[in-house]
Parts: sequence; structure tokens; C-alpha cells
Amino acid sequence: MSSQLLEPSQAVATLESYGRPDGLSVEGLLDEQLSGGLTYNDFLILPGYIDFPAHKVSMESKITKNITLKTPFMSSPMDTVTETDMAITMALLGGIGIIHHNCSAEEQAAMVRKVKKYENGFIIDPIVLSPEHTVADVKNIKAKMGFCGIPITETGKMKGKLVGIVTARDIQFHRDDSSLLKDIMTTDLVVAKKGITLEEANEILSSSKKGKLPIVDEEYRLVSLLARSDLLKNQNFPLASKKPHSKQLLVGAAIGTRPDDRDRLALLVKAGLDVVVLDSSQGNSVYQLDMVRWIKETYPELDVIAGNVVTREQAANLIAAGADGLRIGMGSGSICITQEVMACGRPQATAVYRVSEFARRFGVPTIADGGIGNVGHIVKALALGASAVMMGGLLAGTTESPGEYFYHEGQRLKRYRGMGSIDAMNNNATAAGNAATKRYFSEGDAVKVAQGVVGNVIDKGSLRIFVPYLTTGLQHSLQDIGCQSIREFHDAVAEGRVRFEKRTAAAQLEGGVHGLHSFEKKLFA
Ligand code: GDP
Ligand code: GDP
Ligand code: 5GP
Repeated sequence: MSSQLLEPSQAVATLESYGRPDGLSVEGLLDEQLSGGLTYNDFLILPGYIDFPAHKVSMESKITKNITLKTPFMSSPMDTVTETDMAITMALLGGIGIIHHNCSAEEQAAMVRKVKKYENGFIIDPIVLSPEHTVADVKNIKAKMGFCGIPITETGKMKGKLVGIVTARDIQFHRDDSSLLKDIMTTDLVVAKKGITLEEANEILSSSKKGKLPIVDEEYRLVSLLARSDLLKNQNFPLASKKPHSKQLLVGAAIGTRPDDRDRLALLVKAGLDVVVLDSSQGNSVYQLDMVRWIKETYPELDVIAGNVVTREQAANLIAAGADGLRIGMGSGSICITQEVMACGRPQATAVYRVSEFARRFGVPTIADGGIGNVGHIVKALALGASAVMMGGLLAGTTESPGEYFYHEGQRLKRYRGMGSIDAMNNNATAAGNAATKRYFSEGDAVKVAQGVVGNVIDKGSLRIFVPYLTTGLQHSLQDIGCQSIREFHDAVAEGRVRFEKRTAAAQLEGGVHGLHSFEKKLFA
């Protein structure tokens, strides 16, 4: 090397003389011959160049061949994670919830239906009553469904002639439940004609100052309904995951691969399911391959996420069978003891990279499932090629997860359990199929072998704050790396422009808080 100092103006050009950029390419990082399987904590991503603000980073990503979300977040199909509230809120915030199947098919379908009903463009099947119904009927609907804006038609059915509307204000202070609706309904109606666009109808609704806008045909027969509250929902949740036409929220559900799961799926599809997840800890089975093929034949419009897988070989079979997305992870979950008990599995970073690199060639998006403990893990999963992350433990303990809070040693907690825990396998054993035993192929066993544990997680508050924290954190991280979108991130990693480095044990200590007497770790405000 020359001892003469170089001019500052030569700094950038001088980089080229090194022959390669700093750090490792993703392939170099994940060389198993050299360093075995890696986990998220085993490496870091080197920073890039920033020429855009963090809020400009697009987090749009695919979860299947045909479904794109505005944020890459999915909640796990576990009975302490995803039921109706979680699924609605995940979708409102730009992700998607996958409803668990440790319940009867009817219960699961009812949860799907509730998510689909939560927000609408044109409500094409609104609840309708007749003038002869009573205030009590309206109050019943309010109690069951949560709304009470009811169009009144002559027949009490859709396509009947519209004669009035009853809304919350009509019954709010009405004490006599036996009053007939014809005596209290509003008959001076603002309506719109069939054929109007959603934009035009919304315009009429906002300027009319009414809560509902019935849509009628030439003979004044009711064909659909618009709710003002949906305009507000649309305004308040700009990232929401919705069907383009119906504006209903997207929702997924998990099923097993046994014959009765086909009947379960029929109910879920009828309830409006958008994507089905085949829930197995080891997806490379004849049962799952048959199921994928059957679903693609029977419901060609329904996207199927298959899994779980951790190797290219497992992935290849499922891709060939027609999977629209793959779920990656075996033994990486926070409640999971699979690797300990089964001696099967793979460190998650290596699993995500190997499967995603392969699936990318076929345009099949992948989902990194399990072991996501912080924003950094999300970024690393995406760096390794995943299009989305699935979270259980990180979302358990929010207001929207199932279960009640309780106090233990001064901490506010909620229960979180593995679906392969004895607790989950014993639960609901008499209902139509136990999801937990099916997931781990242990239906016929006299002795159940646990692959998960039961635990508690700390109260994380509402998803409505927690998910925006994840979203903003992800945007700032991608800004540091110098990528303005997840797609650009994937390309930059594949082309070797994003660089990595392994972390020694000492580097991991250095990267955490250290050297303090005590501290408080507050993650967001
Ligand atoms: P957006 O305006 O960014 O939401 O664009 P979209 O393509 O999602 O929406 C197109 C039209 O549908 C706009 O007029 C929106 O206001 C309207 N829209 C979107 N979501 C809903 C909804 O849930 N209900 C109703 N009634 N209208 C909606
Ligand atoms: P309401 O004033 O009591 O009817 O309730 P809101 O207008 O506040 O909320 C109604 C919500 O429920 C909207 O998001 C609708 O899209 C949704 N919804 C779903 N199905 C129906 C239905 O059959 N009738 C009504 N009124 N709303 C429905
Ligand atoms: P977490 O986000 O808590 O780290 O992991 C959640 C994921 O763990 C789930 O999406 C699912 O794939 C997996 N999982 C759920 N229950 C169990 C279990 O009992 N055992 C194992 N091995 N994995 C589980």
C-alpha cells in the first residue's frame, strides 16, 4: 500500500480497489459448511445509504401468489392468539389474522363471518325487518350483531319494497319493546339508485348527514345498504387489508389435513374465507400434498398456504402440488420444544433463507413463522427472503388476543400456550377434531407427546399501538439499510448489495444494553 495520503475526492472511487463491498453476501453468511445453521441473533445487517425519509418506506408485500398486504404481519393460528378481535384489528392495521381451529368448524366459521361483516362497501345482504316487527326484534339484532340500522321493507326481506328505516336513535329511549316498527320508523328516506358507483354513493352518504344509505332499484326495492361508520373506518385505517370490490376485511383460517377438514373448509369458504393455512408442524406429508391438490381443484379461487417447512426438499413437493404460499419454521417458536423432543427442525435464519431462495424462483411467497421476538427479527426474516412474518408470542398478551388478564407477582399477564402443549391437546378433545393433536399427527396415540409448553406473557396493551410500533420500527430499519420497499430489499439482498456480518458471542453482548447498574427498557411511546 502506498504511504502517500489519498485525496478525499478519491474516497468513493477507492472503494473499488477492494474488489468487493464490506461484509458478506447473504449466501456467504449462510454457508452451512462454514458455520452450521444460524438464528436471527447470529448476524447483523450492515447499514446502507439513506436518501429518503422513513415514512416513505413501503411495507407492501405478498403473503401468497395472489394476496398483497400493506404490512407484512400475520398472527398465528393459535387459540391464545387469533380469534375475531385479533383478526379484525390485524386486518385494519394492514396485516391479516389466521383464525385457529382448536374449536368446532361452526365456531371457526362464525369467527370468519364476523371479520367479513365488520366493514363493507355496499352491504349486499343487510339484515332487514318488516313494518310488523317490533322494537324488541331490533334490540335483539343489536345484541347479537352489534348494529341496529335496519331497513324496513314490505316483505321484511331483501328485494322487498323499501318503506322505512329504523336506527339507533329511533329505539334509544323507546321503553315499550312491543311497539311495531311501522309506528316508529323513519319514512322520509335519502336513497340512491342501483348502479351507482361506491364513490358516488359515499358522496351522497357524507353529504346527507344520515347514518345509512339504502340502495333501491326502479321499483324502490331494496338491493343493498351503505353505512356511514364504514366511511370512518376507511378513513381511520388507511393500511387496512380489504377485498378491492366488497371492501370487506381479509381473513385467513387454519385447518388440518384429515377428511373432516374438507367439511370444515366448506363452512369457512361459505363464511367468506380469503386464505386457508394448512396447519402442520411438518408439511411434507402425503396428507398435505393431497389436501393442497384437492383444495386447488375444488376452490380454485382460494389461496392455500402450506407448511410448515424448513428445507428446499419439503418446499419443492408443496410448490409442485400447487401451494400459493409457504410457512417456514420448525422448532423456532417461543413456546416450542420440538427440536428438543423430536430432534427435528432447523435454526430459523437458515430455514427462512434456504426455503425462500428456492420458492422465489417459482414466485411463491414465504412466511417466516416463529421466533419473532422484536422488530429486528422481522427485518432479518425479510432480509433472508421471507415476504411476511407470522407472530404468536409477540401478539399474545395484547388486548385483542383471547383470554383474560391476571396479576402474578405484580405483573399483568395473559396466558399463551403452544398448540402442541398437553394443555392444548387435551382441550376440546371431544369437539369435532382437536387442532392441536392433528397438527402434530398424534390423534391415535395412547400417550400424548408434548411439543410445546404453556406459559404467560406480559400485557402489551392494544394492537392499535403495538402494530404501528412494529410498522414504524420496520420503516426506520429499512431506511438505515437504504431500501425504500420490501421488494427493493429482497432484490438488493439477492444481488449482494445488502451486506451481512456474523456476530460473535461478545458482539451479541455488546449489541444489548450493558454496563449499567439498572435500566428501564421502554420500547415505544
Ligand atoms: P381509498 O380512497 O384510498 O380507500 O381507495 P380505495 O380504492 O380503497 O377506495 C375506493 C373508494 O371506495 C373510495 O371512494 C373510498 O372512500 C371507498 N371505500 C373504501 N373502503 C370503504 C368502505 O369500507 N366502505 C365504504 N362505504 N367505502 C369505502
Ligand atoms: P348501526 O348504526 O347500529 O347500524 O351501526 P353502525 O352503522 O355503527 O355499524 C354498522 C357496521 O356493521 C358497519 O361497519 C357495517 O358495514 C356492518 N354491517 C355488516 N352487516 C350489516 C347489516 O346487515 N346491517 C347493518 N346496519 N350493518 C352491517
Ligand atoms: P412465536 O411467535 O411464539 O415464537 O411462535 C409461534 C409459532 O409457533 C406458531 O405460528 C406455530 O407455527 C408454532 N407453534 C405453535 N404452537 C406450537 C407448539 O406447541 N409447538 C411447536 N413446536 N410449535 C408451535
